[in-house]
Amino acid sequence: MAVPRNRSSNARKNSRRAHHAKTPCNASACNNCGKKCITHRVCPHCGFYDGRAVIHAKEE
Ligand SMILES: [Zn+2]
Repeated sequence: MAVPRNRSSNARKNSRRAHHAKTPCNASACNNCGKKCITHRVCPHCGFYDGRAVIHAKEE
């Protein structure tokens, strides 16, 4: 296995990692309540997924 011959400097290490920034995930509007939620997930605001209530915890 290849072994690094020289230690990479902090500047070289940090400039290599300059492209590693995270990007915000895509959020779409919920079909039930209209608030922003992640696609293919249960809505955290109303508990709906695919047009039906999956979580009933926050109902009043
Ligand atoms: Zn919702």
